[in-house]
Amino acid sequence: MSEDTSILRTVIIGSGPAGFTAAIYTARAGMDPVLISGMELGGQLTSTTEVENFPGYPEGITGSEMMIQFQKQAERFGTTVIVDKVIEVIFGEKPGDIHTIKTSSGKEFKSRSVIISTGASAKYLGKDFEEKYRGGGVSACATCDGFFYRGKNVVVVGGGDTAAEEATYLAKICKTVYMVVRKDYLRASKIMQERIENTPNIFLLYNHEVTDLKGDNGLVSQAVVVNNQTGKETILDVDGIFIAIGHAPNTDIFKGKLEMDEVGYLAVKPFSTETGIPGVFAAGDVSDKRYRQAVTAAGSGCMAALDTEKYLIQINS
Ligand code: NDP
Repeated sequence: MSEDTSILRTVIIGSGPAGFTAAIYTARAGMDPVLISGMELGGQLTSTTEVENFPGYPEGITGSEMMIQFQKQAERFGTTVIVDKVIEVIFGEKPGDIHTIKTSSGKEFKSRSVIISTGASAKYLGKDFEEKYRGGGVSACATCDGFFYRGKNVVVVGGGDTAAEEATYLAKICKTVYMVVRKDYLRASKIMQERIENTPNIFLLYNHEVTDLKGDNGLVSQAVVVNNQTGKETILDVDGIFIAIGHAPNTDIFKGKLEMDEVGYLAVKPFSTETGIPGVFAAGDVSDKRYRQAVTAAGSGCMAALDTEKYLIQINS
């Protein structure tokens, strides 16, 4: 085996809970990981407010503070964190092959293994009002932010399984949930549709779209919805709006190189983080369209680290 010290043992791409957990484990196992953070250091959690469902934080913690702690813990054991964006990976093919990781600043890393934890991003409508009220009533995560709307009225936008899950979750907390669906049917699975229909405080507004938000001091107090068949406008008195129109995994740079499903989630072997390429592992939301929680991402980051360690032993590195 080559003694070339410029070849790293593992490079982790992404700095959310999956990436940093993989870093903590690989660092503690002596693999000297280099973690390339992406431009949003800390990942999706840095755009949420309080995180109250991550075990070990009984009083809650802000998403940003939690990610700072993840980073400190990873660095304490020797992880090198590089703030840069990966733009291309040239994967080796056979066990033991070297992978080349290129970044937007022109750096190039060579590594025996790669852990991909680039996450997924919630899709937004792309309207100005979302930006205006971000952090003041606009969210894309009911389990993160729903608690702040206890006893209040909220809107959920979307008609798929994500929206249905968000709506049923919020219905347990909120007074009223208006589900705004742009078509005249739900795309959600049958069982979720039944759940929605049987929840008395969820009101379905088919053929409706949110066209504006109103409020004072950056806090939402009303949503303007329009019937896209009749043009009739309705004002809803709400404190929050949850955009639940799907997530997009951050896998554009891997298209045509790694196996993925029809929407871009990376394929991994069952009960493993192994992709189809030896030495390349995927952890967190980039390969999980089902659970998408910080704690499950962290768990799969740990799995990826253990899978990587085993792989490096197998190739005698
Ligand atoms: P989907 O693509 O299934 O649904 C997106 C919904 O948002 C649709 O109702 C769509 O409307 C609507 N939408 C999209 N863009 C806009 C827009 N600009 N304005 C208004 N509405 C819009 O995404 P999901 O995230 O719900 O689900 C993705 C996949 O993940 C699915 O396969 C789903 O089954 C799965 N999933 C599974 C879960 C589980 O098993 N527990 C939980 C969550 C998701 P339209 O129909 O008009 O396009």
